Amino acid sequence: MPTVGVLALQGDFREHLNVLTGLGCDTRSVRTIQELDQVEALIIPGGESTTIGKFVVRFGLLEPLRTRIENGMPAYGTCAGMIFMAAAVTEGHQPLLGSLDVVVERNAFGRQNDSFEADLDIAGFDRPFPGVFIRAPWVTKAGAGVDVLATIEGHPVMVRQGRILASSFHPELTNDDRIHRMFIESI
Ligand code: GLN
Repeated sequence: MPTVGVLALQGDFREHLNVLTGLGCDTRSVRTIQELDQVEALIIPGGESTTIGKFVVRFGLLEPLRTRIENGMPAYGTCAGMIFMAAAVTEGHQPLLGSLDVVVERNAFGRQNDSFEADLDIAGFDRPFPGVFIRAPWVTKAGAGVDVLATIEGHPVMVRQGRILASSFHPELTNDDRIHRMFIESI
């Protein structure tokens, strides 16, 4: 099984580590360049993308992360992790990796609807996936190299670009490990 890291600066990284451990991966919390060097793949968790970005910059990880992903390290971002990997956000300025060729709108589902669950049809899955959305973003623009794997009312909420996977929702908060397995199988 591969050695998989979870960026552990802020957010729900423990839940991702638990799923990965349950699947038999060798796991690492990643907070330093040395720890990043030890992993074959990385998950960027949900949380608050502006805070994750700020800590990544403060810990000197922005360029090392960008370079690893550019050089083909598989990466999966959930919610804030997806935002942080994006090329741009529709509003405001915050540190972004720019590895994933999408523009995202933060908190896109609005206040009325800010946390909810929805059964999602995901490309390649034979039954719906329980999507847990918490102040979630959606993709407003995707580059030609980006495959949309799931949508809600026409808005992409799960995408793949080569070895980069991203979802607006939180599979680590469910008992369904199919997306984590799909990610691990891509390593
Ligand atoms: N709304 C958060 C952000 O903009 C993301 C929320 C989450 O990760 N659950 O970063």
